[in-house]
Amino acid sequence: MKCPICYGNTVGKVGNNQFYCWECYVEYSYSKGSLQIYEVSDDGFLIPVEAKEAKPIFLSNQLD
Ligand SMILES: [Zn+2]
Repeated sequence: MKCPICYGNTVGKVGNNQFYCWECYVEYSYSKGSLQIYEVSDDGFLIPVEAKEAKPIFLSNQLD
């Protein structure tokens, strides 16, 4: 399991089909083959990251 954003290996499993990247500080889950990314707020709430917001992260990552 690698992080879909930074492609790093610092990914821990935090639940059923839920993973956390210690590099990006984001949590993500797989369900029915699709990926959902969450930011974790200071109070521990999960904030869904829209695909259109996540895309520039993917693109900038690939350009690097
Ligand atoms: Zn990451």
